[in-house]
Amino acid sequence: MPFDREFPASTERDISAALEPGEPIHVRLTADLDFDQRFAPVRLAIAHKHVCVAAEARQIMVLPIAGITKASSDELYGSGRLTAETADGERVLAYFTRHLVPEMAAAARAINELIAGRTPVLPTDIDTASCARCGAPLAERGSNCPLCVPRRQILMRLIGLLSPFRYRAMALIVITLFGVVAQMLTPLTYKQIVDRVLTQGHHHELALWAGLMLAAAIASLVFRYAGNTLTSWLSGRVVADLQGRLHVHLSRLRMSYHGRREAGELVGRVMNDSMELLHFLKDGFPYLLVNLLSFITIATILVILNPTLALIVFVPVPLLILGGTWFWGKLIPLRHKRGFRIGRLHSLLGESIRGIKVVKALTQEDRRSREFDQNNDQLFKTTYITDRVFSGFYEFLALVMAVGSVAVWYLGPKGIIASGGRDPSLGDLMAFVAYIAMFYGPLQWFTAVLNWMSSAFAGAERIFNLLDQVPEPDIAADSPEAIAALPSVAGGIEFRGVHFSYERGKEVLKGIDLVVGPGEMLGLVGKSGAGKSTVISLLCRFYEPDLGEILLDGRNLATLPLARYRRHVGIVMQDPFLFRGSVIDNIRYGKPEATFAEVVEAAKAAHCHDFILEKEDGYDTMVGDGGVELSGGERQRLSIARAIVHDPPILILDEATSAVDSDTEKSIQEAIARLVKGRTTIAIAHRLATLRNAHRLVVIDDGRVIEQGTHDELMAKEGGHFARLVRLQTEINKLKTDQIVSIA
Ligand code: ADP
Repeated sequence: MPFDREFPASTERDISAALEPGEPIHVRLTADLDFDQRFAPVRLAIAHKHVCVAAEARQIMVLPIAGITKASSDELYGSGRLTAETADGERVLAYFTRHLVPEMAAAARAINELIAGRTPVLPTDIDTASCARCGAPLAERGSNCPLCVPRRQILMRLIGLLSPFRYRAMALIVITLFGVVAQMLTPLTYKQIVDRVLTQGHHHELALWAGLMLAAAIASLVFRYAGNTLTSWLSGRVVADLQGRLHVHLSRLRMSYHGRREAGELVGRVMNDSMELLHFLKDGFPYLLVNLLSFITIATILVILNPTLALIVFVPVPLLILGGTWFWGKLIPLRHKRGFRIGRLHSLLGESIRGIKVVKALTQEDRRSREFDQNNDQLFKTTYITDRVFSGFYEFLALVMAVGSVAVWYLGPKGIIASGGRDPSLGDLMAFVAYIAMFYGPLQWFTAVLNWMSSAFAGAERIFNLLDQVPEPDIAADSPEAIAALPSVAGGIEFRGVHFSYERGKEVLKGIDLVVGPGEMLGLVGKSGAGKSTVISLLCRFYEPDLGEILLDGRNLATLPLARYRRHVGIVMQDPFLFRGSVIDNIRYGKPEATFAEVVEAAKAAHCHDFILEKEDGYDTMVGDGGVELSGGERQRLSIARAIVHDPPILILDEATSAVDSDTEKSIQEAIARLVKGRTTIAIAHRLATLRNAHRLVVIDDGRVIEQGTHDELMAKEGGHFARLVRLQTEINKLKTDQIVSIA
């Protein structure tokens, strides 16, 4: 929780002594900078009638709310401050670092609510900036703590990904086991050749042992090949399925999730993290099995061959395990940090490319570069530190192993000399030396794989975290249940006392009541920021109301199957998004089965047929990312054609504000007039022509409906809000034309 539940007991006592008896405290928050802007906790309590600030050394500042006219939180360079305007001037209530910006903004809002005589509601959806378990600061708000990664759980989920392919996975284990056994046989044949053939003189057995050696080599090769092929299939399949699941899941996630994230970051999560996982599953996981099996088998053989020498070989093992555990603990957070830094770079890069026009127009290229370089530099440092720590550790282990090897070469021959070649025998030593390489190999590998494992685990955790986000609840639009629940739609819409806030405590819609009859066209009018788009977002069910209900033909929207409902709703957006593909595919995007004739008819109705034919490839012209650039007016008409093909009973029109020439304007208006005929339409209207077309207009201001009626009724209203808006717009338009005339 970003806000405090309780301060330390002594502070609580000091604060309650400063308040009126029984006065409730609405907000408790700890600022992280003191008044000299040094790191130190400063407690801020917003009570019903007072704001208290308690710094170190039991100093306490108390301001009566009645004496404050306004509170605000400002961001300075790298830090911020919360201030209150009083009759004596501005008072700083707290300084804080960037981490606390959302909390402090909420605190300022809470004080302002109290000034206005309302009880403040605290946002609960501010993601925490530090780990709830260990208190460590998080690289990104709301992310998982790298120090508290539930590793076992992640491993179990990773194994769970293999469950649809369990027979193949089991076959892989068996093949691997056979491969390991075949490989283990070779040093035993060395021993037999040295001891039985050379030392004991059974010369006729030489061909037998050499043959066995060859057979073991071939078998090991065949099993390895089979294992590798199977691994490649399994890992590729698992990751491809996972990416598919992620893609579907992302499209089902609520708008409130998407709204808070950069597209680039999510793309990175689906692509990079799953590639990292693929790398691990393909080049790490199978060897984990091979090396684990080899390790156990060789350890057993070594003990059987010669327990004393085996003990010497085992000396580095505990060191390795202890060191590995320590290293694992160090590495995971570093890797996690690296993942975030890569994500940040992705989103910066994505932003720079998508916002290239703005960046160029405001000549902010240098600033973007600096920001990018800074992040890039941090990424470089994190990667470098990780690699440096890792290399040092790796070489240390190599040294430990070398010492073990030298010990065997020293103590082994000593034993042979002392026992006259009986215990250990020369063959034992030969086999031992061969096994040591095989035994230390996996150990060395285990330490190397920690590196992979940690990044794969960090990636896997981010992937699982995304999969764990709860999607919009729904059933398929064409399922019998959905059809039964919503067979047809007449198009009557009603908003009943709808309240909504994107962030708690900051209400955007404050009780909207609206009725739109079937086939009626309603125009939404109001200043920018009044809440018009929010009304539309709620109607599309991108978000759910906090209070009140939205009804379709008398039934609460929340009870209807979502995808099926959305089939009945068409949207023509301000800046229509065109998908990469042909014009025809874009027009029939909502109804892929539409015939060419239907598309052409819709295009004609939307006044786009002519300009489409003017393009070189006509209806096959490629548009969208990397395709032919279309003008704003053309895009808009394409999206109208799209809506005509889709043919929904309910239509949402977010009219473009951008200026188009009068011919285009006329053809857009005609297209819209055809489109809205017979459909329930809610339009955010900016143009007077559209406003006149609407049967009724609703004026929204500050999240409330303040006027409604027909165009003429509202125009005739003395001192009416709408009449004033129209007058203003006419004056602005006149001003524009005057300017054009005077320039001409
Ligand atoms: P309009 O369409 O009338 O211009 P909006 O419905 O877009 O107004 O916005 C109403 C208010 O909600 C504005 O104050 C805006 O800043 C805020 N708002 C809009 N979208 C979001 C969002 N995704 N998250 C938080 N606040 C938002």
